[in-house]
Amino acid sequence: MTEDQKFTVFFSTWVVLGVISFLLLFVNKNAIFKKKVFPSFLIIVGVLFGGFTAWMEGSVKAVAWMYPFIALIMFLNYKLTKFCPKCGSTNYNRMMFTSMKYCQKCGESLEETESQPVK
Ligand SMILES: [Zn+2]
Repeated sequence: MTEDQKFTVFFSTWVVLGVISFLLLFVNKNAIFKKKVFPSFLIIVGVLFGGFTAWMEGSVKAVAWMYPFIALIMFLNYKLTKFCPKCGSTNYNRMMFTSMKYCQKCGESLEETESQPVK
């Protein structure tokens, strides 16, 4: 497979993942479902990205240094994303070192309580 073909496969996969991610995180308003599938989705994306970089480079060794960063990005995405229990919207905390307490859309508390676990 040529470099251009490899790039086309990589790019097409990323477009498909982008559409799935948009539907899952922004169209879907079922917070319970999102909480359930989000960790698996992140793992799939991380593994695919790691796999693609190795495939395109032709060697796992050449890109292995990236893997801890990919894992860190996936972990941060997991920790910084919360789903509102009231309106179901996806809240992404861009202020990494402060905690996100309220839904950016409806103002509902995102703090975890025993009766209403957020994550
Ligand atoms: Zn909300």
